[in-house]
Amino acid sequence: MSPLLPILRGLIEEKGPLPLDSFMNLCLSHPEHGYYRKRDPLGRQGDFTTAPEISQMFGELIGIWCVERWQAMGSPASFNIVELGPGRGTLMSDALRAGKASPGFIEGLKLHLVEINDSLRRQQKQALKAYDPVWYESIEDLKLKGPTLWIGNEFFDALPIQQFISKDGIWHERCVEFDTHKDELCYVDLVSKEVPVMGEQPAGTLFETCPLAQSILAKISAHIKIHGGCGLFIDYGYSRGEKGDTFQALKDHQPVSPLAFPGQSDLTAHVDFQKLVEIAYRQGAQPHGPVTQEAFLNGLGIAVRAQALQEGKHESLQEEVKRAHLRLTSPKEMGNLFKVLAITDSNQTVPCGFHV
Ligand code: SAH
Repeated sequence: MSPLLPILRGLIEEKGPLPLDSFMNLCLSHPEHGYYRKRDPLGRQGDFTTAPEISQMFGELIGIWCVERWQAMGSPASFNIVELGPGRGTLMSDALRAGKASPGFIEGLKLHLVEINDSLRRQQKQALKAYDPVWYESIEDLKLKGPTLWIGNEFFDALPIQQFISKDGIWHERCVEFDTHKDELCYVDLVSKEVPVMGEQPAGTLFETCPLAQSILAKISAHIKIHGGCGLFIDYGYSRGEKGDTFQALKDHQPVSPLAFPGQSDLTAHVDFQKLVEIAYRQGAQPHGPVTQEAFLNGLGIAVRAQALQEGKHESLQEEVKRAHLRLTSPKEMGNLFKVLAITDSNQTVPCGFHV
């Protein structure tokens, strides 16, 4: 049994049903039993695989993107890179290896990593020790000045969401209850204290929102406006504020019920990019995109990089590179579901990969 289950049950008995965001937050970030606290969730042994773990091409192209933006900012002699949720450090290590080709880039950067997982922090330390990174528990702890590049791959999808459902013209909030007959967690929709700004909706409309993603993006956008810099965020999600239930769980690479293994399955929801774009504008920063991961990687020349990696290599390795190229860009795989959003200050040109 999940060690988190009796804790959740106790909380529900004491305080009543838990709003979905509180449930998700406890499942992912509970100091002892939270999913993201101790284990390495990535790779074949874990529950899911991410783009940088599929191929070095992903991180390398992001490295080239960062260099291009650094040059667009006038190649500042000192600047920050912040990565949110760096996983095993693979993306950043591939990116900075690619960045070495540009004199002044590595010399000028100070690397900051926001990570709550101890086991992943250890792996990041191993992968990135040459760059002497500094770790933070939360974006709140960052007190940076000067131009900053912000990177996040599959970070926003791991932040807690709220769900609101319209029933007979009344907004309800989805909560998690303990069913004592069945001895398991279940959903219950309670009349909402908060009313989402959605206006009248047809009965049954379900609407998701992620307040933490919104406040993090607002802080980053404000920082970019004041100090200069840019952000690059890649995640699966929708471009135009679609409605519907996207709350999901993965365990051992298989979809499971989000309530079945609290603290032991990866819980995520689609990222609402439209909302993030609005927030960037509101803070006076300039959003670009979202574009699909396929368009972004094609714009950065993934085909050329894939070709170069195959040259003179054994057939099985060539196949591996071709397969990874397809996985990252094919609309049937990650190419279409994953979106990429960039944010810059308003003085910058359109970044690479965002020309439509
Ligand atoms: N970017 C990596 C890992 C993605 S998984 C990759 O692409 O491979 C999500 C990452 O975010 C993990 O490193 C996880 O530990 C971290 N994370 C999840 N919730 C977090 C939070 N609230 N604050 C900081 N890091 C978090």
